[in-house]
Amino acid sequence: MANGALSVDTEHLFPIIKKWLYSEKDIYLREVLSNSCDAVTKHKRLVSLGEAQESDTPYRIDISVDKEARTITVTDNGIGMSADEVERYINNIALSGAVDFISKYEGEGGSGIIGHFGLGFYSMFMVADKVTMETKSYTDAPAVLWECTEAGSYEMQAGTRTQRGTSITMYLMEEEDSYLSFDALKPILEKYCSFMPVEIYLSEGDKEELINETVPLWQKNPSDCTDEEYKEFYRKQFHDYADPLFWVHINADYPLNFKGILYFPRRKSAFDSQESEIRLFYNSVFVADNIKEVCPEFLINLKGVLDCPELPLNVSRSYLQNDAYVRKVSAHIVKKVSDRLNFLFNNNREEFEKNWEGLKPYIQYGCIKDAKFCDRTRDVILFEKASGGWCTLPEYLEEKEEGTVYYTTDAKAQSYYLDLYAAKNISVLIFDTIMDTNYAQFTESKNDKIKFRRIDSDLDAIKGEDTSDTAALESLFKTAMGKEDAKVSFVTLGEEDAPALLSVSEESRRMADMMRMYSMQGDGNDFSFPVEEILTVNAGSPLVQKLMTLPAEEEKAARIAKHIYLSAVMLARPLTPEELRAYVALNREILMAL
Ligand code: ADP
Ligand code: MG
Repeated sequence: MANGALSVDTEHLFPIIKKWLYSEKDIYLREVLSNSCDAVTKHKRLVSLGEAQESDTPYRIDISVDKEARTITVTDNGIGMSADEVERYINNIALSGAVDFISKYEGEGGSGIIGHFGLGFYSMFMVADKVTMETKSYTDAPAVLWECTEAGSYEMQAGTRTQRGTSITMYLMEEEDSYLSFDALKPILEKYCSFMPVEIYLSEGDKEELINETVPLWQKNPSDCTDEEYKEFYRKQFHDYADPLFWVHINADYPLNFKGILYFPRRKSAFDSQESEIRLFYNSVFVADNIKEVCPEFLINLKGVLDCPELPLNVSRSYLQNDAYVRKVSAHIVKKVSDRLNFLFNNNREEFEKNWEGLKPYIQYGCIKDAKFCDRTRDVILFEKASGGWCTLPEYLEEKEEGTVYYTTDAKAQSYYLDLYAAKNISVLIFDTIMDTNYAQFTESKNDKIKFRRIDSDLDAIKGEDTSDTAALESLFKTAMGKEDAKVSFVTLGEEDAPALLSVSEESRRMADMMRMYSMQGDGNDFSFPVEEILTVNAGSPLVQKLMTLPAEEEKAARIAKHIYLSAVMLARPLTPEELRAYVALNREILMAL
């Protein structure tokens, strides 16, 4: 019927396809199958418009492999093509300037190039040195047999196909043997075609298997999906056998058209070096993995699927980074995730609290990273109370007149202080990660009415009145502390309370913590960065009162003061080796004097 060379540029095109697409070769299967799907979808559409007769056979796509013949054949019963259409859609590849453009994109791995020129069809030549296509239009146009070799020359003649649709046979090159089996093709098809909208059957000899699920969960209406279906989808897709903490099903069509399901995996911290597992689809056709460009950075540990039919099927990373639609999708995800969190918080607080530990890292980090997310989400951030249970910051502050939030970083080590706060009925929050402290600082920076104070910082909340007339004792304690410029203050706590307590200013402790973190000596016992400790003496303690009656120069007075000081240290932190030695010696002296 007709012969020809595809176009002036094809002699350039074929070597390029081979050279640059090498790394992503598998996509030829995606391209061929998505064309078949398109062909079926087009036919369905014509039927619904009354322009084509209803199909008398179920729509399906078959992909079969023949090891002997070294072929892979893809057959569909879609719209098919007339000779004219083959001429128009297959033979005439518009390639003006293509070579220039392609060399510019050399570094991009190639899938962007194919998409850009609508060369999907020709990607078969990455693996095949000959392709034949038999196609029969849904109209009564005669069937066409088309054949093309890797040199870029084609032949067209009358075909013998009687059924509507298209059958494409790829003759694989010698070095592409590895594609020639059922087991080799199956995983590739599962990767790219698991959710294509037309049933795809893979076969080799007698073996045949359905590859895809034609209506993937994300394309369904959220109200038609059960929790079990969401979990099952998660297990199958991400091979994670721990149920996700929760998920967000996004089903937007206006003004932004995209769908998807995002899961929060059950994990200890958001900082596990976990690859992003968000998969991008285009109308159910898999496009790419690890789409960090489409999802806000702080949600990078989510797993899920996004279907963005407004992106081109072949997108490059650099395209995603600069696309306005992508930015809108990302902003919409932020909104949906926070809506969902608020919904859970308001409707199932118990469940929300149960899962909080897992959610916390994402959300605290998200609030710090993204102002919009923070506005929407900060009031559902939970803090664990030392007395048990959880509260949000607004709930915590509701009970109080001023905006100081008390926290402990170690409920065991700081237990003596905790008891003092409990006795005063002041709630204390448990901060057990660095993120908690970071989040507290972030909150302070956003709201100057809120201050976070560790329970051993200023003791303002628990101490009674300041007591005067203690000049004599002051120098006694300074000597006990071994520093003439040490800070000593006198307050009135209860009779039963410790005779003295140490406190450390919040600012200087944070500074020391930070230095320690940077020097990575986080064993908690390293006091190399000086933090000023203040001794707060309890003038209400009978022992202190006894001390006041003793002449200050007496040895007894010095021993009591030293003992009071070291005991205060022990309530606050582990003793240093020198302090420990002094303490043992002091106890021996005191016991001997009894
Ligand atoms: P694109 O899919 O982006 O249009 P392709 O290179 O993949 O570009 O395909 C070119 C064209 O060839 C398609 O638009 C379609 O018109 C036609 N075509 C390819 N495969 C088939 C098929 N199996 N059935 C019908 N038409 C097809
Ligand atoms: Mg295509």
